Amino acid sequence: MLYYKRGSKLVDSYGRKIDYLRISLTDKCNLRCLFCMGEDGVDTLSHSEILRNEEFYEIAKAFRELGIEKIRFTGGEPLLRKGAVEIIKSICSLGFKRVGLTTNGTKLKELAKIIRESGVSELNISLPSVNEEIYRFITRGGELFEALSGIEEAQKQGFKSIKINTVLLKGINDNDIKNIAVFCKERGLKFRVIELMPFSNQADFAKSGFMPQSELIEKYALKPADEVKEDLSGKNYNSYIFPTGERIDIIAPLSRKFCGYCNRVRLTADGKILNCLHGGGQFDIKEVLRSGGDIKEFILSVVSKKPLKHHIENDMIQSRPMKKIGG
Ligand code: SAM
Ligand code: SF4
Repeated sequence: MLYYKRGSKLVDSYGRKIDYLRISLTDKCNLRCLFCMGEDGVDTLSHSEILRNEEFYEIAKAFRELGIEKIRFTGGEPLLRKGAVEIIKSICSLGFKRVGLTTNGTKLKELAKIIRESGVSELNISLPSVNEEIYRFITRGGELFEALSGIEEAQKQGFKSIKINTVLLKGINDNDIKNIAVFCKERGLKFRVIELMPFSNQADFAKSGFMPQSELIEKYALKPADEVKEDLSGKNYNSYIFPTGERIDIIAPLSRKFCGYCNRVRLTADGKILNCLHGGGQFDIKEVLRSGGDIKEFILSVVSKKPLKHHIENDMIQSRPMKKIGG
């Protein structure tokens, strides 16, 4: 039997404190990034499968009462969810210490202001390239100017932090990384590159397109910005500097696992909790909620089953595509 009291912390069976929840608001997206989904990008979740606005609120409230301090809205493209602003506003009212949003930026021109007013203070914006053609190729038809005008608008709205996220793709955008770094430096944006992770819907691409961080470091003669920590000591990236002074943070889930410090769980748009991005199973909290069960007990039991680490290096990869998890 597991017990909790208001304000108590969620701790998994390896002693890791779980205080970060990522909430996927939808699996829909207006882009079709090569690394995230197949060409068809079909939405398979039906209306009844998706959590309703008030269900997102109830589940977020339970997590808050169990000690979750930081949340991030993601997707799919979270800003495509009908009622996204209302959900975000209601969940922000629960008093989380940090609230972030991960977006492809294409809806920020119209929504950045209201998102900021709703209580979101940290934005991560995906930008796979600053070259129009490469951007169009990677996103399968996206228009770079939509993301750029979203970034510009977001910068006017006083977010505490705006980070640009780029998934590193060998032979596709690796020659553009310096240009993105310059773009970010000129605008005072933080820049993070992420090693490509495999998901079953793009497993072949994940092999051909994978470039380890070591190659990127060598290619651009990057130098550590601070002491490079092998154990990462609680953060999931290391910072480097280009010879010309631009800064880049590298997240390397394959080359340098940060599982030992993992503090997160995920809630999918169809009401499943994932206690690991690449394994650990999926747990149906929607079913528990709709049948009147105790969702806090359920959350505690899911957290207690969080695996020690992922095994993607051994081809133990996630069968859910990223857009159905919430990256
Ligand atoms: N649509 C939003 C966006 O693009 O930011 C939010 C959802 S997206 C799934 C969240 C993050 O996952 C993005 O930063 C994206 O770059 C990252 N991502 C998607 N597929 C990935 C993969 N195969 N490997 C590494 N990161 C990935
Ligand atoms: Fe859409 Fe984001 Fe996936 Fe690209 S990474 S297809 S923008 S959900």
